[in-house]
Amino acid sequence: MPIPFNKPFIVGKELYYIAQAVLEGHIAGDGSFTRKCHALLEKKFNASKVLLTHSCTAALEIAALLCDIQPGDEVILPSFTFVSTANAFCLRGAKPVFVDIRPDTLNINEKLIEEAITDRTKVIVPVHYAGVGCEMETIMEIAGRHGLFVVEDAAQGVSSQYKGKYLGTIGDLGTYSFHETKNFISGEGGALVINNERFIERAEIIREKGTDRSKFFRGEVDKYTWVDLGSSYLPSEIVAAFLYAQLEHIDTINQRRQEIFNYYQQGLQPLAGQGLLQIPHIPPACNCNNHLFYILLPDEQTRDGLMAHLKNKGIYAVFHYLPLHLSKMGKILANESKRLPITESISKRLLRLPCYYELTAAEQECVVKEIEYYFSYNE
Ligand SMILES: *Cc1c(COP(=O)(O)O)cnc(C)c1O
Repeated sequence: MPIPFNKPFIVGKELYYIAQAVLEGHIAGDGSFTRKCHALLEKKFNASKVLLTHSCTAALEIAALLCDIQPGDEVILPSFTFVSTANAFCLRGAKPVFVDIRPDTLNINEKLIEEAITDRTKVIVPVHYAGVGCEMETIMEIAGRHGLFVVEDAAQGVSSQYKGKYLGTIGDLGTYSFHETKNFISGEGGALVINNERFIERAEIIREKGTDRSKFFRGEVDKYTWVDLGSSYLPSEIVAAFLYAQLEHIDTINQRRQEIFNYYQQGLQPLAGQGLLQIPHIPPACNCNNHLFYILLPDEQTRDGLMAHLKNKGIYAVFHYLPLHLSKMGKILANESKRLPITESISKRLLRLPCYYELTAAEQECVVKEIEYYFSYNE
C-alpha cells in the first residue's frame, strides 16, 4: 500500500454539521457555525478577536490592507516560506526584503532583522515554520523600537505556543491556515487573529467587501453600505461547519501529531547520532503542534536520492521551499541579488516525511526502515 504525503481526515461531526447547516437554510458566510468557530478560537487561544477567512492567504491580504501598505513600503520576511507570505503585501505594492533563517529552527533569524530595516520599512512578518515559534520576544522588541507592525504568519502554528502565548496572538495581527495539509482542516480555510484592537472594526469591513454589513447584522446600523476598500474574504457555512467539528477535537489531533512526531524522532535518532541526517530542533520556549516532520540530509544529491528511493517504495516524501529570493517574481520585486546562505543550503537538503492524522505506526515503521535501508546501501 502506498503511503501518501498527506491525507485529509475527519475526527468527529464534520459531515453531520454540514448537513445541519444545509437543513438550517444558511450556507453563505457568517452564520452560526462561523460564530461558533470564532468563539471557540478566541477562548481556546485567549485571543481578543478572530475572524474566519477562506484561506490564510486571504487573512494575510487583509493584514496588508490593515497595515495600509503603500507602493514602495518595505516588508521584512524570510525567503524560506510559502509565496502567500510575500504576495499579500506585494499585491499592495510592497517591496519584499528577505532575511535569512536560523539553522536550528529554520525560522527568520531575529539577529539579522535590524540591519534590514530602512525608513521605508512598515511590517515584519515572522513565519512560524513547522509550528515552532520564532523568537517573538526579540522581534516584538525590535518592532516596538522602530514603530513597525508585526504580522505573524502562523499558518503552520495553530495551537502552538511561544513562552505560554499562542502563536498568532503575539503580533499586531496573526494568520492561520485550515488548508487540508495543515493540522486542523476545512479543505481551504483560514483565520485572521486581531490583537491590536485599533484594527478590529476595519478588519470586519475589509472582510465584508468594504461594507459595514457586520454592524448591520448586529443591529448597530440600520442599513449597510460601501465604506472602505475590501473584498470577499469569508468562508461559506459549509466550510465553517466542517472546521467547527475539527476544532472540537483540537486536543485529540494535537496528541496524535505528538505521537507521530515522537515515533519519527525516536526511530531516526540512531541515524542522526551517526551524523547521517538531522532531525528538527524545538527550543524549550516553544510548545509545538508538530505540524510537520522534516529531516535534513548532508547534501542535495543524498536528499534527491532518498526521495527517489522512498518514491520507488510507494512512500511520498516532499521538499520545500524554493527560496523566494531566487524565484522569478522574488528577484523582480526585491530588486537585489543578495545571497541567503542558510536558506539556500536548507532548501536543497530538506525532506518532509509523510505526516497526517491517520498515519499508522506500521506505516511510520516502514518509512523509517526504508530510510535506514537507503543509508546502509549507500555507504
Ligand atoms: C499553508 C501556508 C500558507 C497559505 O495558507 P492557505 O490557507 O493555503 O492560503 C501561508 N503561509 C504559510 C507559511 C503556509 O504554510
